[in-house]
Amino acid sequence: MFEIERWNLMTNLNNKAILNPGNVCSKCLQKSKEHQLNIIHIGEMGYGSGFDSWSTEIHLCDKCLAETNLDWWDLEVVTDCNGFEAYKYDKEIFEYADNLPLASRELFYNHYSTDNYKMDAQDWIDYELELLPHEKCKDYGLYSPAETTAYKERFPICFYVSIRVFPDSSSSSRCMFGAFGDKEGNTYADTMTNACYGCEMFRIREDRIPIIYENRYRSEGLNVK
Ligand SMILES: [Zn+2]
Repeated sequence: MFEIERWNLMTNLNNKAILNPGNVCSKCLQKSKEHQLNIIHIGEMGYGSGFDSWSTEIHLCDKCLAETNLDWWDLEVVTDCNGFEAYKYDKEIFEYADNLPLASRELFYNHYSTDNYKMDAQDWIDYELELLPHEKCKDYGLYSPAETTAYKERFPICFYVSIRVFPDSSSSSRCMFGAFGDKEGNTYADTMTNACYGCEMFRIREDRIPIIYENRYRSEGLNVK
């Protein structure tokens, strides 16, 4: 088999939901006979752990299990100076999970997750690939790729966006239609708004971004209880 064909096959498998995951290794995606996989159940923890209020599973064949650090799966719990508990290898477990094939990440974060929020397996994968249609995203209450693109592309160049500087010298950017961004008028990397998607007011800014100094009275007025 040519490398390119192998690559295509792997890509397809990776992006296809695993329909009967009970006997499929999360790492190599090979099928095993019933009860021959090592099932690692990662129990729910509290604030301080990435597993705060949810648990999940990873299923590994003997070979793939042997290639991991077996100490991780002892799931030893450590307590930090504030009294918060986490798995000693919390970070390593997430790094491992995040490097699994996409179809296995679906199992880790969706199928086996005890989080109440569940998606159809293929929808979860398609969402990660930014292929899930806008309407389906909205059915799940998720921001759609189109909304993300609109925010990333429009907000930084929109005429209606201004930088607001507050009396304490902190600043952020926003428009009057509900979109917001960082202190330089760029989008936030980890926060989203759908205000730019389909916004009929969008207009490209030709001059520099306006800077508005919020006066003390108004800012303090907002904080009156
Ligand atoms: Zn395996």
